[in-house]
Formats: sequence, structure tokens, C-alpha cells
Amino acid sequence: MPDKGTKKKLTHVEGEAASSPAAEARTFVPAPESKAKAGKFRLFAVLSWIVAIGLEVAAILQLRVQPIKTWLLIVLIAADLVFAVIGNLLWKKANRFDPASEKQKVRFFVQNQLGAIIAVIAFLPLVLLILTNKDLKGKQKGLVGAVAVVALLIAGFTGIDFNPPSQEQYAQQTAQVEQLTGQNHVYWTKSGSKYHLYSDCQHINTSKTDEIFEGTVAQARELKNITELCKTCEARWTKEHAAAEVPAPAAEVPATELPAGEPVPVPVN
Ligand SMILES: [Zn+2]
Repeated sequence: MPDKGTKKKLTHVEGEAASSPAAEARTFVPAPESKAKAGKFRLFAVLSWIVAIGLEVAAILQLRVQPIKTWLLIVLIAADLVFAVIGNLLWKKANRFDPASEKQKVRFFVQNQLGAIIAVIAFLPLVLLILTNKDLKGKQKGLVGAVAVVALLIAGFTGIDFNPPSQEQYAQQTAQVEQLTGQNHVYWTKSGSKYHLYSDCQHINTSKTDEIFEGTVAQARELKNITELCKTCEARWTKEHAAAEVPAPAAEVPATELPAGEPVPVPVN
């Protein structure tokens, strides 16, 4: 059965579709709009990380001021952590808009895991200086040291991208949908982990959902980091289009090559 549509609020995600060249030379090039967004997120991520490292330096300087104030160190470490985490989240978001290529292995790793690397820079020197500080006494050292170690772990964990986006993945995911449906158009929800081919798919057109997004595969990844096509939709599309061919884009089929249909009956007067 065809897509019967949905009564939910359908939000069309604005923006140009990323260019999708022929299948044989498929590479993913982010739309200019996505690239601009990525640049903005990266700028704020770097600024946030600079503030985090600045707060670490402030905490390190406090270690030399006698008597060492426990509360002040904890406040500085907490603020350092807040900015480190904000930077990490913005950085990972930027990578979804403008992913790295898997072909350049070192760059791919550094770009996707930069948050974790920054976390080490923003906390490890402080942790080591706290643990080796002679002016900090037993209980005080234990408390401040523990807070700094926990902050290091949280910052490191939020900095890791466990599902790093890559240009190759985007190209492959887009190709999968395009090969199946002939177009780069999918639906998804805020809470879902898959994108769908039908807006009335049983998994998204539920009573729990009041908003469905539609857009390209890359947009589903940019906004929600969705990497998977709904199996139900895939099976439904395959079943419905088993006999019929996948519709080719109209522009690529000259009118003269269109297959001749049934002869048009001539009205008899
Ligand atoms: Zn579905």
C-alpha cells in the first residue's frame, strides 16, 4: 500500500540536499549550509575548550597560594569540566555536519576523538600536580584529587565519539536509500534510532509521536545521528515495488525512450 500520510506535525528540514554524484564515484560532500554550521560549532567548541584550559591554569596557580582553598579548587575544576563538556558536545555535533573521511586514518581519529584528547590536556596536568603537591594534606589532597580524577573521566568519556560519522558512511547510507527508492528522502522522529521511508510507518506514526521530521539521509544524521534504515520500511518498499521498477529520475529518461504503454483506445462515435 502506498504511504497514506500522517496526521502528525510534519517538519520539513530546510536546506539543500548534499550533492550525490553517480554511484561509481560516490563521495559525500556536505551542503554549504551544513559546512557553515559545522564551522560555527567548531569555533564555539574551541573557544569553550580554551576557557576550560584557562580554568585549569587558574586551578594550578591556586595550588601555589597558601593556604590552599579546597572550595576554590573544586569550583575551578567544576567550571573547567562544564566548559570541557560543552566543547566536546559542540565538536561532536560539528562532525555530524561535516564528517571526516575514513581514508585518512590519523585525521579521522583525531577529528572524531579530539574531545577526549582535550580532556587529557584540560585535566591530567592538574591531577598530577594535585597528587604530587606537598602543601596539600591527606584528607584535602584526597578530596581535591578525587574531584579532579572524576572530572577527567567525565570529560574524557563525553569527548569520545563512540559512533564517529564518516563521509564514506554518509555516502553509503544515502546510496542504500537512493538505490531502493530512487530518491534521497527519509522520515525520522526525535526519539527514534532509525530513519524511515514512509511517514505512516507503524514505528513512527504512533500515539507517542507528535512530530515527524523529513529530509535527506545526511540530515537525519546531522540532527539525530541516525545510521540505520527501518527494516519494516525497507521490506514494505521492496514488497510494494517488487514488480515495478524503481522510478528513475524523470530528467534522465528522454521521453522517446519511455516504454510504450497500453495502446490508447480510440473513442468510437
Ligand atoms: Zn519504518
